[in-house]
Amino acid sequence: MNHWVLGNWKSHGTRAEVDEFYRQLELGDSSSESQWGIAFPYGYTERARDFGLGHVGSQNVSEYGPGAYTGEVHAAMLKDCGCDFALVGHSERRQYFAESNETLKEKLRLITEQGMWAVYCIGETLQQREAGQLESTLDQQISLLDQCQTPSLVLVAYEPVWAIGTGRAATTDDVTNAHGWIKQRLKETPCADAAILYGGSVKPGNAGSLAKLEDVDGFLIGGASLNAESFSAIYRSFNQAKNA
Ligand code: PGA
Repeated sequence: MNHWVLGNWKSHGTRAEVDEFYRQLELGDSSSESQWGIAFPYGYTERARDFGLGHVGSQNVSEYGPGAYTGEVHAAMLKDCGCDFALVGHSERRQYFAESNETLKEKLRLITEQGMWAVYCIGETLQQREAGQLESTLDQQISLLDQCQTPSLVLVAYEPVWAIGTGRAATTDDVTNAHGWIKQRLKETPCADAAILYGGSVKPGNAGSLAKLEDVDGFLIGGASLNAESFSAIYRSFNQAKNA
């Protein structure tokens, strides 16, 4: 089963909050359920790994290997610090750090070369959606996977930019349409079997209805993953919907 419930803490949290998160998780019997994990800020990944629960991820990676790149953390270091996945192409990185498709392609290559999963984030802005550019935007973003050499380590997260951190999740119709389109487009790449996660204002209250959608293979959760109770509730709802 290729199902994933992942969190993204962004630039939030403290060591004490990492500890509290793991101590308060109530995921139910997760032995036969979806995979789960949290992408932490770099400084907390080792701390998180020490709990030995779920997957630990990074939100970014250097586009370079080892060398004189002050401030950068390269993929082998992430692995060494206990990460087994990393996000690539989150809209905040594309927007605030001007990450291009070429940079992201290199990051994805470096992550998967280390045997870590790369969660490749795609999604349109409101302006693009309203201009009828949903499909062309997704197409351009997915083209980065056209010659992917490591398809078994790639997950795709559809995160419409207008739904991130706004409290306004995409409707089930929006998600059905976008995920269906993405699935077809992925068939033109080596990543035809990649899990497609939805992200953008996923909360305990909407997780069940989104999880019921056939082409939703998981969630990427921002704000609601900062709290063990809401992350656990979303995880349980997801599994319940998938096992129904
Ligand atoms: P959100 O963020 O759940 O707070 O909307 C999602 C994300 O940015 O991955």
